[in-house]
Amino acid sequence: MSELARNLNALDERFAAALAQADDERALDAVRVAFLGRSGEVTVLRRSIGRLPAHERPGAGKEINDAALAMEARLEDARAALQRHIFDADLAQSIDVTFPAIAPVEGSLHPIRRVLNDVCAYFERRGFSIVLGPEVEPDYYVFDALNIATDHPAREGFDSFFLSDTLLLRPHTSPMQIRTMQLHTPPVAVIAPGKCYRRDAVDARHLYQFNQIEGLLVAPGIHFGHLKGTLLGMCRHLFGPDQQVRFRPSYFPFTEPSAEVDTTCPRCAGFVTQCKMCGGSGWIELGGAGMVHPNVLREVGYDPETVSGWAFGFGIERLGLIRYDIDDVRRYLENDPDFLEQLG
Ligand SMILES: [Zn+2]
Repeated sequence: MSELARNLNALDERFAAALAQADDERALDAVRVAFLGRSGEVTVLRRSIGRLPAHERPGAGKEINDAALAMEARLEDARAALQRHIFDADLAQSIDVTFPAIAPVEGSLHPIRRVLNDVCAYFERRGFSIVLGPEVEPDYYVFDALNIATDHPAREGFDSFFLSDTLLLRPHTSPMQIRTMQLHTPPVAVIAPGKCYRRDAVDARHLYQFNQIEGLLVAPGIHFGHLKGTLLGMCRHLFGPDQQVRFRPSYFPFTEPSAEVDTTCPRCAGFVTQCKMCGGSGWIELGGAGMVHPNVLREVGYDPETVSGWAFGFGIERLGLIRYDIDDVRRYLENDPDFLEQLG
């Protein structure tokens, strides 16, 4: 064996021993410097080539280069192995596979959406269609066509958001009565759910954006008894089989006669004098209703002598308050997961 081969063997043994000892990145760097660095062992060996006879020098140079390349490769393998080892150790520390898994949170429909769906389901089963309309309306649909002339004081009561002199965010869903009747000849039976807007200060009972559902039935021979029967059925569908409804005389320009509709308080059924939900009266207000005013029927080209109809407009938030026994409409908007989960 030539002297160079003996030297390379010895170098290889020292390199293998140093590599086996290196147990972190810094130690690996030190091995590289010691063996492959500018003044490392390989360089020293290369310099010794100069002492060889000229014809042996190219062969010796190649042998040393091959050895150096092999050492580089082993150094990289050792580095990769070290990184894998560190990664595995990290993983073992951060993931305890025996730990109980976190159950994924199951979403549910928002209470407003649930009430809305239930009201729609009740009316759809009775042959009503669902219609949707624009949230921005000309004042014609919001007021004029609904028997609320320009100088009518009821306009003030709506506290509307006006976008221009004649355009506004609808303060109620009743424009859909007009839009529906303009498009269809009687009989019509529709419900129109949707967002409405009023310049109300936000408190436990009011939001400036709220959801309303409009109901409209027009056909020959429709009378107040149909309205009462329909709303009684709706209340029992939503709140329970023992619900009752009552009608208090009221005034709306677009219905005649008009009524405020109440239902029995599901929290106390009238037996608790301090009931917070109904104030001890045993009744909770649902919203307004009545027989469609003849002027409204005439406005859309219907003949009040041959057809009649009823209409109602209820707040979905309010229906939800009654159904879920909630004290404050602002709860709907707080995105409180506990609240939503409780009702889900
Ligand atoms: Zn009560």
